[in-house]
Amino acid sequence: MTNWDKVLNRLEEGNARYKSGNLIHPNQLPECRERWIDDQEPWCIVLSCADSRVTPEMVFDTGIGELFVVRVAGNIANASTIASIEYAAFKLKKYVKGIVVLGHEGCGAVNAAIDVRDAGNAASSPALQHLVGHIMPALQKTPSGKNKKAGYVRANARLAAADLIARSKIIQDSKLPIVPAYYRLKSGDVEFLSEIKRG
Ligand SMILES: [Zn+2]
Repeated sequence: MTNWDKVLNRLEEGNARYKSGNLIHPNQLPECRERWIDDQEPWCIVLSCADSRVTPEMVFDTGIGELFVVRVAGNIANASTIASIEYAAFKLKKYVKGIVVLGHEGCGAVNAAIDVRDAGNAASSPALQHLVGHIMPALQKTPSGKNKKAGYVRANARLAAADLIARSKIIQDSKLPIVPAYYRLKSGDVEFLSEIKRG
């Protein structure tokens, strides 16, 4: 079993607890805070949307010092999220075993990008234009299947995962597996997509 397989098992087990409501809330007591005053040993990086319904620590039933979570609307790979992930991938490389890019059902950022594309106008602010600019390449092909918005969210998670490698030598050199994933709001299920292949 590879290190990544072990991490995936741990994520899937935590997600199964979350889905069923049988959470164990590990590593959240005062002694856990004390244990991690001087350092941290997170075992997985998660790039997630800022959406209040998608909380990685809860979705995977984890606690303090376990996940290195970077959140931004649309889970995009921009300079700030890349720099944050570079820190964990390089400085904490003894502990981190992989990166998950977590897209989700009903993503407002992906919907905003679809609206900007369809309207053919600029977004309502320069900052939003920057954000949707990162998502736009994921909208170039119409996804197959009935739920097109879900297809765009999956494409956007794959794009951000590939961008982490394409835009960061540190992340590329880390050799960490990078896996896009899709979160469903009602069931709480995380569907892991294929690992991004490195060129
Ligand atoms: Zn979102």
